[in-house]
Amino acid sequence: MFKKDVIIIGAGASGMMCAIESGKRGRSVLVLDHADQIGKKIRISGGGRCNFTNINASSTNFISDNPHFCKSALSRFGPCDFIALLEKHGVQYEEREEGQLFCVKDSGEIIKMLEKESNDAGVTIILKCQINDLKKEEAFIISTNNGIFQSESLVIATGGLSYPRIGASGIGHKIAKQFGLKVTGMKPALVPFIFSKKDLKIFGELSGISIDGIIKCKKFEFRGSILFTHRGLSGPAILQISSYWREGDTIVIDLLPGIDIFGIFIEKQQNRSKIDMHTLLSEFLPSRLAKIWCTSNIQSKPVNQYNEKELKKIAFQIHNWEIKPDTTEDFKTAEVTLGGIDTSELSSKTMESKKVKGLYFTGEVLDVTGQLGGYNLHWAWASGFVAGQYA
Ligand SMILES: Cc1cc2nc3c(=O)[nH]c(=O)nc-3n(C[C@H](O)[C@H](O)[C@H](O)COP(=O)(O)OP(=O)(O)OC[C@H]3O[C@@H](n4cnc5c(N)ncnc54)[C@H](O)[C@@H]3O)c2cc1C
Repeated sequence: MFKKDVIIIGAGASGMMCAIESGKRGRSVLVLDHADQIGKKIRISGGGRCNFTNINASSTNFISDNPHFCKSALSRFGPCDFIALLEKHGVQYEEREEGQLFCVKDSGEIIKMLEKESNDAGVTIILKCQINDLKKEEAFIISTNNGIFQSESLVIATGGLSYPRIGASGIGHKIAKQFGLKVTGMKPALVPFIFSKKDLKIFGELSGISIDGIIKCKKFEFRGSILFTHRGLSGPAILQISSYWREGDTIVIDLLPGIDIFGIFIEKQQNRSKIDMHTLLSEFLPSRLAKIWCTSNIQSKPVNQYNEKELKKIAFQIHNWEIKPDTTEDFKTAEVTLGGIDTSELSSKTMESKKVKGLYFTGEVLDVTGQLGGYNLHWAWASGFVAGQYA
């Protein structure tokens, strides 16, 4: 049996950060992962450029049953701390919209940086390692296809359920349950919507069209690109709202944010314009969308043939187009998992289980889900960092 101070299951963002920090404290650290490479999600993140953090990261960017849980870790490991690490390794980065930071070259540079840091901290990594059994006696005992390992501390950093094709599995949630920890309900998040059958027949042919819109669901709203797909709706604004959407909810889209379309209608009427409504709307929206939207929502006719009340109603509908998605796509396409290990089970300062001494959970496996924009990776770094100070 091989003995280590700390065993970390999961060589993703949070597992590697935890390993580096724990190793720097002089702990002997072993990381086990069933994948053939470390950080596979980091590699594909941000379209290969890894949106690794967001300079505005704060607790308001996260969804959790306990919105305060993430505060402690975020206050101890902020975006500047990760930037300092990148600068130490000469990794170039750039800021894009809304404080999102990306690698200039590619996400492989971050993986190399994690490899170098973990190597310097004396961390051992075993890949292609299947976890067969896990129990706690005096110490944690982990049986794998590479042998049996024993450790004083065990960190579960196995991520969420999304993208199973690159290694995601439910093992972290299973381990939590094995030790009597609660796990919240889970669902795909940052994920495209699927139209109802009826809407798909009408709007399916808009596939490929993208607009700048505001999307609202309950009290939440996001502005950004909305993309029509062959199954429903996608694009950054849609992915954002999907995390707040629940089965049966209606979403509301402002197709022309910031444009006083009612004022434009009135102006056209005053000029006695005979322009057809869908032709007029084509001046502001892709013409296919204008046409299909008019067919399904109003009766398109020359603008001078509507009365003011009708025009007001059309303007309202354009700014408040209601759609009831059938569902979302599943974990195969979702960027993250909403929900996870109940944070009431853990210390927010250390990420250690309150029930099981020496057992830690970090990253996406927890019920802490970031919005789109670098927040999920930031949570992985921050939670891994704090666990690494104690594990
Ligand atoms: C396509 C895509 C793009 C994304 N882009 C961004 C982005 O640009 N910015 C951002 O902030 N977030 C992004 N995310 C989300 C982000 O990648 C994750 O939230 C983050 O990687 C979670 O880190 P983690 O360490 O908790 O888990 P992961 O990075 O998922 O690591 C978990 C590790 O555990 C291992 N593991 C799982 N099951 C087992 C098992 N049974 N046995 C052994 N090992 C196991 C996995 O192989 C993996 O290496 C993206 C996600 C996806 C899917």
